Amino acid sequence: MEFLEGAAVALGGPRGFEVTRTLPSRQRRMVGAWCFLDAYGPHSLGVTPGMRVGPHPHTGLQTVTWLVAGEVLHRDSLGNVQEIRPGQLNLMTAGQGISHAEATPERHSDVIHGVQLWVALPHADRDMPPAFAHHADLPVFSDGGLDATVLMGELAGLTSPAACHTPLVGAEIRLGADAAATVPVRPDFEYAVLALDGAPVIEDAALKPGPLLYVGSGRSSLRLSTASPARLLLLGGEPFEERLVMWWNFVGRSHDEIVQMRLDWESQTPRFGEVRGYDGPRMPAPPMPLTRLVSRGRVR
Ligand code: MN
Repeated sequence: MEFLEGAAVALGGPRGFEVTRTLPSRQRRMVGAWCFLDAYGPHSLGVTPGMRVGPHPHTGLQTVTWLVAGEVLHRDSLGNVQEIRPGQLNLMTAGQGISHAEATPERHSDVIHGVQLWVALPHADRDMPPAFAHHADLPVFSDGGLDATVLMGELAGLTSPAACHTPLVGAEIRLGADAAATVPVRPDFEYAVLALDGAPVIEDAALKPGPLLYVGSGRSSLRLSTASPARLLLLGGEPFEERLVMWWNFVGRSHDEIVQMRLDWESQTPRFGEVRGYDGPRMPAPPMPLTRLVSRGRVR
């Protein structure tokens, strides 16, 4: 097991919305096909501004939005306008290209707390047409002091209705006070756990909000315990063996592909469509780096 400490990142500049990014990390870029993890909050919206992420493009991935508290309003270039609340999943499949904006809605709670994840699409599906789905009814597994909502993939025999393109799992696990429970996992998957709330213990590792605990593979169960109520995010999947080029909001396979994606966004070709109804400018792509981007594997 190893702790991936992550980095503080301000979305939208130094006065923006602060997140802790634990994937990709210095040591590991992925857990299964999960290739990006930003956790934020709990932020009081009386103190920090709400989320305001203007229209921006994606390719080759799925975005997974999950909230512990608060609301986020999603708008995309397919015309979807969807508010999301805790316990619900917003899943956007970028495929060949999509754009979206995410913002705290005008009417909102005082606190926002959640995670933004990306799942890399495998070669066979990465150029698929874009899609968006909102799932308000997800399976919940309960076992002695533990409740687990399966966001993506399968856990303990329960399968999320969300569309997955590689074998993986994403689940929110809630533990009551003094809970001790065992979750069945697959030896062929690698896993990682993030504490969203509280101070859970994973096997013998004490976790707190912030770092991502990489658990690795080869286990058939995972022991969880806690003294006070805790909430955690379990991520897992079959190790993703394709090499990727991740740059800005794009997942590709080569430097030249990324150059084309960037150009398509900057020159407003139909590839990424248009987000309507967002009150603010579209996000410009940063300049390409001076050196060629190199494809990389899941471990550094
Ligand atoms: Mn996005």
